[in-house]
Amino acid sequence: MLQNIRVVLVNTSHPGNIGGAARAMKNMGLSRLVLVEPRIFPSHEADARASGATDILENAQVVATLEEALAGCTLVFGTSARDRRIPWPLLDPRESGLKVVEEAGQGAQIALVFGREDSGLTNDELQRCHFHVHIPSDPEFSSLNLATAVQVLTYEVRMSWLAAEGRPSKVEKDEVASPRSDELATMDELERFYEHLQQTLVAIDFLDPEKPRHLMARLRRLYGRSSVSRAEMNILRGILTETQKAARGELIKRKNEDV
Ligand code: SAH
Repeated sequence: MLQNIRVVLVNTSHPGNIGGAARAMKNMGLSRLVLVEPRIFPSHEADARASGATDILENAQVVATLEEALAGCTLVFGTSARDRRIPWPLLDPRESGLKVVEEAGQGAQIALVFGREDSGLTNDELQRCHFHVHIPSDPEFSSLNLATAVQVLTYEVRMSWLAAEGRPSKVEKDEVASPRSDELATMDELERFYEHLQQTLVAIDFLDPEKPRHLMARLRRLYGRSSVSRAEMNILRGILTETQKAARGELIKRKNEDV
């Protein structure tokens, strides 16, 4: 599906930006780069900025006109640093990412078109696009570096593609995720923990049974919010046991000193 999506760079001046765009694309799993009349290409600078993405540069198609770059496409997105140059269906990168993936999934050939560093895309070029995409940057400083703009759009394509494929966008370690319901401490285990906690707090003189000041209720509320797993409960119980031992040792020491 991702191979149905091409990135088109129009009249790029700085070869470094071509390399940066190639790298951005490869990071996001895209591979088809089309260059319309690049000022300097190929070049060492492009290779250097591409890092390991030189295969994308090697396979890049160089053409003379935007028309050639868009041959076979059924859906074209044109990017613009200024919003609303001409009234046109306008999307933000997230919306365009969703649309790109939806249509590419149905076999559409899609182009994401990026303009010149100094002057962007011409009105004529923008009018060849079905949608305009504007990255909602600060209007006072709206123009992103070309390769950075490619990164933003291709990132949104990737996020939307991952979601469509049902692939996770992150792999959370089990310990960080909430425990599964069958791993949670049960009510009776919690009850025994609260008893143990209370005994320990009394033993270390933190809780005065004569003046409990809702301490246990507050602690219950705290642990109740925490979805404590059985394994975590065992750690807490272990800490309480050791605390009790240490408190007993301290008591014996004090008694001996009294003698
Ligand atoms: N002075 C030019 C800036 C071009 S920046 C102008 O006003 O149009 C080079 C290219 O990067 C743009 O043609 C566009 O493809 C992309 N780009 C930069 N900033 C962008 C933004 N905020 N939204 C969408 N595309 C952007």
